[in-house]
Amino acid sequence: MIKNTNILQDTHGRNHAYLRISLIERCNLRCTYCMPANGVPLSPKSHLMTYEEIYNIAKTFVKHGVTKIRLTGGEPLIRKDLPVILKKLATLPVELSITSNAVIIDKFIEVLKANKVNKINVSLDSLNASKFTHITRRNEFKKVYNNIDLLVKEGFEVKINAVLIKDFNDNEIIDFIRFTKTRPVAVRFIEFMPFDGNKWDKSKMVSYAKVMEYVYKSFNKATVLRLKDAPNDTSKNYKIEGYKGSFAIISSVTNPFCDSCNRLRLTANGQLKNCLFSASESDLLTTLRSGNSIEPVIQKAIQAKFKIRGGMDTLDKLEEPKLHRKNRSMITIGG
Ligand code: SAM
Ligand code: SF4
Repeated sequence: MIKNTNILQDTHGRNHAYLRISLIERCNLRCTYCMPANGVPLSPKSHLMTYEEIYNIAKTFVKHGVTKIRLTGGEPLIRKDLPVILKKLATLPVELSITSNAVIIDKFIEVLKANKVNKINVSLDSLNASKFTHITRRNEFKKVYNNIDLLVKEGFEVKINAVLIKDFNDNEIIDFIRFTKTRPVAVRFIEFMPFDGNKWDKSKMVSYAKVMEYVYKSFNKATVLRLKDAPNDTSKNYKIEGYKGSFAIISSVTNPFCDSCNRLRLTANGQLKNCLFSASESDLLTTLRSGNSIEPVIQKAIQAKFKIRGGMDTLDKLEEPKLHRKNRSMITIGG
């Protein structure tokens, strides 16, 4: 019998106030680290949450203390009813944000503003057009690059997510940091993480320590300022003195931040994941459709949350394909 009345608190004392909702399993890019070349099996449309179901599930989480909702995917902007979803979610007392590859975001400026979506995270793994095409398997660099400047001009708070892969884009770390000299954006270097079908191996990963080695080789140590991280922040934040923007490292592999984790993830087919790395899922959508309360299912899922990375608490366990392949491909989790 679970006695705790705060259903969003786990057995390690963590409160979960942040829900990431994946709106779609499809994408207009094909990033190699996110999905296999031949795609992933897609859920039939009838198994995906409708906008009403997304709203109903979100409302339950908000009732229990969720204050932030981030929309992700796949690519959330290619979901046809995105404007309706935004409008419904904007009626809830939450901070609404979005993670996008920004290929078509110029068409959504007004709808984002109208629904008070101010924080946008954009994926961009290279500042070089042909490398961008190589990693995303699509030729859309120019659009993304121009759209980042457009978002800044339009007053959005922009973070750029760059997944670092050894011998692919680690030679661009300093270029990315220089990109923040005149732009008020935060570039976040993400350690490459293992998921089903992304051919991860540790030797391809660029660690937090390695990033800082590059930084201290290129900049005078006194000008590299360590910033105060926000509570529950997944990133270690820095800036170069005098630069408009900042940079950060998200080190889920070498330096997990699970102690302060406040995140939950809802997949496009209505499965609650209590951790990005969790192999198990809880079916909120079927429960909702059967007319039952989803609250006990949420509570049970949160009570089962492991202390560290879905139970893969050591690097050895994370490296074990049998363990990390039990999880989905990132494209169907949402990042
Ligand atoms: N399509 C949107 C985008 O790319 O921003 C949203 C979905 S994408 C799955 C969300 C985030 O997950 C992106 O920033 C992407 O870089 C990150 N991601 C995907 N696979 C990853 C991996 N294997 N390791 C680290 N980050 C990953
Ligand atoms: Fe699409 Fe984002 Fe995955 Fe790239 S990282 S394939 S843009 S979902």
